[in-house]
Amino acid sequence: MLKNKLIVSNWKMNLDFIDTKSLLSKLIKISKKKNQNVINVVCPQNLLIPIANKLLKSSNIILGAQDCHEKESGAYTGNSSIVLLKKLNCKYIIIGHSERRLYNKEENKLIKKKVEIVNRHKLTPILCVGEELEIRKKSDHKNFIIDQLKKCIPKECEKIVVAYEPIWAIGSGLTPSINDIREIHEITVNLLLKKIKSVKFLYGGSVNSKNSKNIISESQIDGLLIGGASIKSEEITKILCQINFD
Ligand code: PEP
Repeated sequence: MLKNKLIVSNWKMNLDFIDTKSLLSKLIKISKKKNQNVINVVCPQNLLIPIANKLLKSSNIILGAQDCHEKESGAYTGNSSIVLLKKLNCKYIIIGHSERRLYNKEENKLIKKKVEIVNRHKLTPILCVGEELEIRKKSDHKNFIIDQLKKCIPKECEKIVVAYEPIWAIGSGLTPSINDIREIHEITVNLLLKKIKSVKFLYGGSVNSKNSKNIISESQIDGLLIGGASIKSEEITKILCQINFD
């Protein structure tokens, strides 16, 4: 039986106002059914967060954001502050997604500051880690993930959700084996549980309605981070229903 699985939708820079209303209304319908095994978190792009916040007001779907700046305010043109994300009811913040590491040149040192500010504001960071294909081919992935975790997690950290997202699995249709996911889960928990009160572990990368249930039940992880499939209403509703009404 699956219990309290964390299912996080990363909408990335997709959907407009009308799509948002339509998708959220479908998710709200599912969230009203009994026997919920799922904590459903939706992370829209920042411009959609105010409308999503209104639409989700009386639902049990939780709002999250895809990033935040490492400072609370100041002369940082084009960035978004955690203070306002918090006022808009975001509870989870994705930090260090591989697309931000690649396109915005975010490095571990900066990501650590972001994890720090999210914790300071009593929100939950979803820290993304994951290796490139070359690293896995050389069997260096375990050391690589340990290094990312050590460099991205600050000393003072009360809670963290780690999302293992191998870069070669994102949007590619490829997924690691259940044993591969288990291996990284074990490494993560062994490293972090000694010093952090609350640690959860998600898998992300080419999750869809055909593989989600197997991944989550076989690997015994805490949940999933879903990109592409999370903006297709049929896919995400199937995923949620399979896990919810197990
Ligand atoms: C992601 O980018 O966080 C992700 C998991 O993407 P996808 O599900 O599309 O592979």
